Amino acid sequence: MIPYGRQQIDQDDIDAVVAVLQSDWLTQGPTIGRFEAALAARCGAAHGVAVCNATAALHLACLAAGLGPGDRLWTSPNTFLASANCGRYCGAEVDFVDIDPATWNMDADLLEAKLEAADRLGRLPRVVVPVAFSGQSCDMARIHALSRRYGFSVIEDASHAVGASYLGRPVGSGDHADMTVFSFHPVKIVTTGEGGMVLTNRPELAARLEQLRSHGMTRDPARMTEPSHGPWYYQQTELGFNYRITDLQAALGLSQLGKLDAFLARRRALAARYDALLADLPLTLPTRQPGAESAWHLYVVRLRLGEIGRGHREVFEALRASGIGVNLHYIPVHLQPYYRALGFAPGDFPEAERYYGEAISLPLYAGLTDAEQDQVVGALHAALRKAPAA
Ligand SMILES: *Cc1c(COP(=O)(O)O)cnc(C)c1O
Repeated sequence: MIPYGRQQIDQDDIDAVVAVLQSDWLTQGPTIGRFEAALAARCGAAHGVAVCNATAALHLACLAAGLGPGDRLWTSPNTFLASANCGRYCGAEVDFVDIDPATWNMDADLLEAKLEAADRLGRLPRVVVPVAFSGQSCDMARIHALSRRYGFSVIEDASHAVGASYLGRPVGSGDHADMTVFSFHPVKIVTTGEGGMVLTNRPELAARLEQLRSHGMTRDPARMTEPSHGPWYYQQTELGFNYRITDLQAALGLSQLGKLDAFLARRRALAARYDALLADLPLTLPTRQPGAESAWHLYVVRLRLGEIGRGHREVFEALRASGIGVNLHYIPVHLQPYYRALGFAPGDFPEAERYYGEAISLPLYAGLTDAEQDQVVGALHAALRKAPAA
């Protein structure tokens, strides 16, 4: 089975992890800071705070943005559960903004209309989480401008978008977001096994994220409520968590970052190849958001069902049966039983639902060979062949 995504681990990645295993620090050592500094520098951000996964990163970013009970968080329905769940962890109400039918990202027109309506009702969100779906930025300039007008924080879920750029600047630079979150799960662009990071340009947010990552405690006398009792002293000033990443993981991440450009180049070449090889099939191929250069975490096609003699599920199952590990990103989050129980219903976000009925994620990862990609394309041709007329 050709999977839809997988990590690429080389001997130098293994050596980097082994070197940490042989060192004094398996966790809370010097490698974490080096990993944070390297990714922040790469993205043009002032601060990076690495944590145990991107879900924890989103949770801490929401807390640092001041999200709490009685507040509202809005995100896209076309995302992984974590982009919405982070709001629920903070006791906030979660709502969604439907997707743009062309880019499959949060629709900035719909966001603006929903903000106008919410403003009249006094129900504006405190946080909006735009998701750079498949590795391509949303219309962040517009979303950022709306955040200034309506006073919400922008936490960009760039879990798919390490190495992507927008308007000529790296995603994570903080030009259009208060905080940007990356994931290092093995299917993403670079991996640490499990891992995530928040980038920000605001020192007070970085300090808060660091404190929340480790139990809400500090060893910094400037942040304490009373003079230190001695060299052993620390204070817990708020309720935090153990969301730390290990030095083993940070070493893997640092080593992987050295290959980011090579990974991106291969993903972009494969995406361009899919564009060319699939052009004559009854599919809607990914559209480019003007100004955005995708990191190509996913290559999603939509079936033009009116032109195909088979259903979505039938095509999906035919591909799986021929050894192609296709996937579907994403089941609209508002249709999950947990969110249905909170009041959401089918029909609430029709573009995301229509998309869900047509989308298939094709294999895309740095180690995918041209021959394997040709196999995927061949299987798609076969799966989409019209049933012969009776
Ligand atoms: C993978 C992913 C996450 C969660 O990442 P973890 O590191 O697995 O917690 C969040 N949001 C999106 C859009 C993702 O794809």
